[in-house]
Amino acid sequence: MNVFFDVQGTLVGAGMARPHIREVFEALIGEGHHVYIWSSAGSGYARRAAEFVGVDDLAFGYFSKAEPPPVSVDFTVDDHPAMVETFSDGHLIKPFDRDPNDAELLEALREIRKAAE
Ligand SMILES: [Mg+2]
Repeated sequence: MNVFFDVQGTLVGAGMARPHIREVFEALIGEGHHVYIWSSAGSGYARRAAEFVGVDDLAFGYFSKAEPPPVSVDFTVDDHPAMVETFSDGHLIKPFDRDPNDAELLEALREIRKAAE
């Protein structure tokens, strides 16, 4: 599946990377998924966010939410309900609030695995 991650509130919150990003990206890619990052702030912003959280070597691409991406959006992980409802499958994630014990991305990984079955 093509799995799309939002930036603000999803991978990053208050200037801090959410825990478990790299682990979840590596797991998804290992299971044959393609991982993309997109943002309403544009593809350049999404790319810089990937560098900031340390997954720019893993992401398959970066897109703006302003236009439909050139690949199918099979699953979205986003803190905005409308983004999750727009696409066929998704995980609505709690906005990251710098909780060092945050495990929301592990929950997203479980949801993605369920959707891929
Ligand atoms: Mg967001």
